[in-house]
Amino acid sequence: MKIAVLSRNPKLYSTRRLIEAAKARGHEVVVLDVLRCYMNVTANRPEVHYNGHEITGIDAVIPRIGASVTFYGTAVLRQFEMMGTFPLNESVAISRSRDKLRSLQLMSRKGVDMPVTGFAHKPGDTKDLLKMVGGTPVVIKLLEGTQGIGVVLAETPKAAESVVEAFMGLKANILIQEFIKEAGGADIRCFVVGDKVVAAMKRQGAEGEFRSNLHRGGSATLTKLTAKERATAIKAAKTMGLNVAGVDLLRSARGPVVMEVNSSPGLEGIEKATSLDIASMQIEFIEKHMEKNVNPATLTKTRGKG
Ligand code: ADP
Ligand code: MG
Repeated sequence: MKIAVLSRNPKLYSTRRLIEAAKARGHEVVVLDVLRCYMNVTANRPEVHYNGHEITGIDAVIPRIGASVTFYGTAVLRQFEMMGTFPLNESVAISRSRDKLRSLQLMSRKGVDMPVTGFAHKPGDTKDLLKMVGGTPVVIKLLEGTQGIGVVLAETPKAAESVVEAFMGLKANILIQEFIKEAGGADIRCFVVGDKVVAAMKRQGAEGEFRSNLHRGGSATLTKLTAKERATAIKAAKTMGLNVAGVDLLRSARGPVVMEVNSSPGLEGIEKATSLDIASMQIEFIEKHMEKNVNPATLTKTRGKG
């Protein structure tokens, strides 16, 4: 097969591992920087060009689209889909998962448990907003944040009101969430490929830190999932329509609750914590589904050659 990895930087750990795994399994690989792809949209023959050449004969695409290039990146991926290329994750599923509110609303509709969550932009009544999510302590998040930046724990109503008002002043969309204290500053990253959780790790925040982000000094260890945790992670990925997903769970007193679903989950942390070859599992997934010629996320025929 000929596989294209959509990635801005071939030197990134995840990209490197996917290239390595695809080559080891006998495939040809090209890495394309989505921002350098240009396209035409016509009725019959959509094309993608790169550095003066048309890109042809790609059987499958592995999108590794960073949050900052979601808009253009998903447009390029969509173009490949129009050309009949099999996407490891579909553009529409990636767009869905990048919108935190939409994701939580979809999961709520499917009965996937999550922390009680409120959304607000310019709440006219901060006290009522707090009451709606069960009162303090609450976690307040900037919708656009990543790596734990813009995630604040407010333990008292006064603190919560101040933070909400400060964020309001920035004209940012915020999310206000029940604090799952019993998670103990840890979360669980479940790596889903197809209909399986193929790896899981527990990320524990540094001493005195409720945020478990590895970028904030958290550490990762192996963990054994319960059947309920597995089922929740799989259901979350399915709800988003993602074949490959990093589902982040918190262990709450009422069972696993989903915090977020990542459509381009990084490989470095999880491969190092588990010693598993998750890159190869993704290539294998592509191989299997090219054989069947069906994209399981949508149950539509792909036109790839197999
Ligand atoms: P980011 O997208 O910036 O990583 P997250 O929503 O994942 O933001 O939050 C960062 C970390 O904060 C999580 O990994 C988790 O450890 C902690 N956290 C987030 N929300 C909650 C919550 N509702 N209850 C308890 N801990 C939380
Ligand atoms: Mg996170």
